[in-house]
Amino acid sequence: MPGKIWFVGAGPGDPDLLTVKGRKLLEAAGAVLFAGSLVDQAATLFSPPDCEIRDSKDMTLEEMSAWLIERAARHETVVRLQTGDPGLYGALIEMTRPLTAAGIEWAIVPGVSSAMASMAAAGETLTLPEVTQTVILTRVAGRTPMPPGEELEALAAHKTTLCIYLSITLLHKVQDALRAAGWAEDAPILVVQKASWPGEEKIVRGTIKDIKRRCQDAKIASQAMIVASPTLGAADWPELIRSKLYDPTFTHRFRKATENDHE
Ligand code: SAH
Repeated sequence: MPGKIWFVGAGPGDPDLLTVKGRKLLEAAGAVLFAGSLVDQAATLFSPPDCEIRDSKDMTLEEMSAWLIERAARHETVVRLQTGDPGLYGALIEMTRPLTAAGIEWAIVPGVSSAMASMAAAGETLTLPEVTQTVILTRVAGRTPMPPGEELEALAAHKTTLCIYLSITLLHKVQDALRAAGWAEDAPILVVQKASWPGEEKIVRGTIKDIKRRCQDAKIASQAMIVASPTLGAADWPELIRSKLYDPTFTHRFRKATENDHE
C-alpha cells in the first residue's frame, strides 16, 4: 500500500500560522517537499529528524511528481508544503493529476493565505458593513495571461476589496487599472512584504498616486501583497457603520436583542 500525499498550506511565513493539522502531518512525515521560494524554512521545523526534506525550487513539475510518487512508495505520510493556501496560485491540480493517475491517495490541508495575513499585519479588515462585503483575490497578467473579463480594470469597477497577488513588479499596471476603473488618485493602497515573517515584515501605506514611489523607497520588489480597498484606514474613521451582528438592538440565532428590536 503506498502512502498518502498531503498538500499542506504552510501559511504566510510565521511557522505559528501553520494549522494544527498541518503541523501534525509534518510531525508524522517521512518526506517533505517544500516550495523554497516563499515558505519559511522554519515551516520544516516540525518534521522528525530522519525525515527527508527537499526544496522544490529547482525542480520541474514532472520531477516533483516523480519525487512525491517515489516517496509515497516508502512512507505512509508525505507532505508537499506550499506557501499560504495551496489552492491559490499553487499549481495544485497539475500536481494532483499525476498522483491520481498513479493510483496514489492525496488530500489538501488549507492554509492562511497571505491576503489575510497582510490585512491582519496592518490591523485592517477585508469587509466592512455598507462599505464593501466582497473580497476579490486576483493578480495582474504577467507571463500568465488573465482570462477574458478578469482584467484588473474590470474587477476594480466593483469597488470592493482587491487583494492582488504576484504583482508587485507590475505596480504601474495596478495603478493604471484602478485609475481607469474610476478610483480616486488619493484612494488608499496597502502593500505588505513578507507578512508575518518574524523580523522581516514591511508595511507600506500610500495612495494610488504615490504607492509605487513609497515601495521603491522601502525597497520592496518581491514577496508582497497589494491591497486596494475602501475599508483601508477604517480604524481611524470618525464615523463607522456598525455590524448588525454585535448591535444590541439586533436579534439573531444566538442572541436576543437587549433593546427594542426592528419595528
Ligand atoms: N498560495 C499563496 C500565494 C502564492 S503566489 C497564498 O495563499 O498566499 C505568491 C504571491 O503571494 C506573492 O507574489 C505575494 O503576492 C503573495 N505572498 C505570499 N506570501 C506572502 C507574504 N508573507 N506576505 C505578502 N505577500 C505574500
